Amino acid sequence: MSSTNQIAENLKEIRSRIKAAAERAGRDPKDITLIAVSKLNPAEAVETAVAHDQYEFGENWVKELLEKETEVGSFLRNHSPEKADIIKWHFIGHLQTNKVKQLIGKTVLIHSVDSLKLATVIDTESKKKNVVTDILLEINIGDEESKYGIKPDDAVSFVDSLSDLKNIKIRGLMTVAPICDNPEANRLYFMKMKELFIDIKAKNNDNINMGILSMGMTLDFETAIEEGATHIRVGTGIFGARDYGNKI
Ligand SMILES: *Cc1c(COP(=O)(O)O)cnc(C)c1O
Repeated sequence: MSSTNQIAENLKEIRSRIKAAAERAGRDPKDITLIAVSKLNPAEAVETAVAHDQYEFGENWVKELLEKETEVGSFLRNHSPEKADIIKWHFIGHLQTNKVKQLIGKTVLIHSVDSLKLATVIDTESKKKNVVTDILLEINIGDEESKYGIKPDDAVSFVDSLSDLKNIKIRGLMTVAPICDNPEANRLYFMKMKELFIDIKAKNNDNINMGILSMGMTLDFETAIEEGATHIRVGTGIFGARDYGNKI
């Protein structure tokens, strides 16, 4: 994990790169939400980021999200209560159906819905709690065997298969683009994501309200912004290298 000063420096640098990328594309930097991916980093790292006005965080595992949310929440209520209510947690990892129940109501957005079964469980658990849960559909835009996500060619029909689920709201699409050292290599995938986004947005299903395109990470977020990302997910670029320990 990076030191306190380093996290502050990194945030500053990422923000200025977001601004520059947005301006290159003729976009308003305010239309881009930076999600700080805090997985495998301690609550203190999140608290440091909050102290530097970062309020949206992404987590990959339900247990880790719930623990950190509790710890950061109680810290903020004691130290800066005005910030305790603005902090938002995004769920960005692969979600097992047996973990859904605990997650509903704790996250502002589930980025990783990629099966009818998962969508149905989210809908059922949301109905029980009398809420509508915002979700994104995860697209495997590179059609990679190792990745989760809906195949791009199946995305439009997948959306129709969810049309009866009234306690979910499809707010947009998410992708984890292929890993690359050269961010240009993913531009084509980001463009394909934008096209899919437009196709699905054009539909009239009641449970669709598309506004979010979640794509771009530490190595390629500028390209993603140039191609239309509204939400970027940056971990290493803010918190430094992660220690996976026994997670993988
Ligand atoms: C870990 C992770 C990120 C952040 O990746 P970095 O390369 O550290 O920026 C973004 N999105 C998802 C889905 C992740 O799992």
